[in-house]
Amino acid sequence: MSEPSPACTECGQPVPVPSDATPGELVICDHCGVELEVVSIQPLTLAIFEEEEK
Ligand SMILES: [Zn+2]
Repeated sequence: MSEPSPACTECGQPVPVPSDATPGELVICDHCGVELEVVSIQPLTLAIFEEEEK
């Protein structure tokens, strides 16, 4: 079993995502440190996670 590694939307480097990841889970890019949210598993899609600040 190999972990899927979609590209970081910020820096383009592959980001390992646990095979048991669920939508809404956050992963951190080792390369640029950005937080990415798993928005979809099939297909595996990541989006930049932005905390809302008030
Ligand atoms: Zn990155």
